[in-house]
Amino acid sequence: MNSEFVVSSSGRDSWPESELPEVVVVGRSNVGKSSFINAFTGKKRLAYVGNTPGKTRLLNFFAIDGDWMLVDVPGYGYAKMSKSQLMQLGQMMDDYFQNRENIKAVVQLVDSRHDPTADDIDMIGFFKEMHIPVVIVATKIDKVPKTKRPAHLKAIAKKIQIPVKNILPVSSVELTGLREVEQKIRELLEL
Ligand code: GDP
Repeated sequence: MNSEFVVSSSGRDSWPESELPEVVVVGRSNVGKSSFINAFTGKKRLAYVGNTPGKTRLLNFFAIDGDWMLVDVPGYGYAKMSKSQLMQLGQMMDDYFQNRENIKAVVQLVDSRHDPTADDIDMIGFFKEMHIPVVIVATKIDKVPKTKRPAHLKAIAKKIQIPVKNILPVSSVELTGLREVEQKIRELLEL
């Protein structure tokens, strides 16, 4: 896979001028989003792992194989942000999700070890309302013993009311499940 960093954007003035379909990667802080993006694209520092949220308050656009755009957006659920920082972030995200016509799908990350959080469920509900197709990726699957994986995935599926076959387990450490996510995205985008 060929991936190229395009731009970091703090708002609509710096959204890239592009016709490419965009796939937005979302998840709560610490779910493993940076690790996933690095593993998925095969680039070490594309998204910086363990970054402080202060440095990840931007939308980061990456062109993939010249035919679609991966968009890394700030993780949610991080408590240590001031009200005005949260408001600013909210406005930037709202504007992007409501008005960016390129958005064709969302990759929603959830932690495979735990039930989805209330925030995760809210996010998935929001995308459903917006009629944006959602791919669910269960992160850190290497941390769940093999025999327990089916039960974990089933519990997540039940909680978010999505068929279990639509939940894709990945490990960014063992590099498993990543090509399945790519395949699913390409199917959704009809590429
Ligand atoms: P982000 O805040 O969502 O960007 O999460 P990070 O990618 O920074 O990851 C948070 C923590 O989880 C880090 O300590 C990572 O090393 C760890 N982590 C992320 N993905 C995996 C994974 O697939 N397996 C394991 N075992 N740890 C992971």
